[in-house]
Amino acid sequence: MTDCIFCKIINREIPSYTVYEDDDVYAFLDITQTTKGHTLVIPKKHVTDIFEYDEEIASLLFSKVPKISRGLEKSFPEMKGLNLINNNKELAYQSVFHSHIHLIPRYSEKDDFSITFSNNGDKYSTEDMVAMAKLIEETITND
Ligand code: 5GP
Ligand code: ZN
Repeated sequence: MTDCIFCKIINREIPSYTVYEDDDVYAFLDITQTTKGHTLVIPKKHVTDIFEYDEEIASLLFSKVPKISRGLEKSFPEMKGLNLINNNKELAYQSVFHSHIHLIPRYSEKDDFSITFSNNGDKYSTEDMVAMAKLIEETITND
């Protein structure tokens, strides 16, 4: 895609710090370095977000994530954890519309990344949960 910053990075029209590359996947350092080693993993084929993946692109991309994660862990022995983040659409904080997985190494509770999950479990009854799971399951099955 001509107007896409990550396609330009893949094509070397814009420089980047390469971490891993093969025929289908490119990984490079995120310019913001939220924590040391913050890496983006992207499919070489332009897909906007997770909703556009087919199974082939998904397996090509996600199958490389453990290898790159281990590369980070071995490179930075002080690393104590890793968050994988994938933002989809603007509301969910996506700012570059070529799909990417953030690999964010974690070093301490006070490093520069945090995420909170609220617990809203008490707002849904067992019946609500059964109905919600059934709706999603049937939608997937009929897709
Ligand atoms: P999003 O907000 O879409 O999940 O993440 C986009 C990421 O792309 C941001 O973390 C941002 O720092 C990174 N980014 C944007 N432009 C560039 C660039 O030109 N080079 C690199 N290496 N990272 C970029
Ligand atoms: Zn692109």
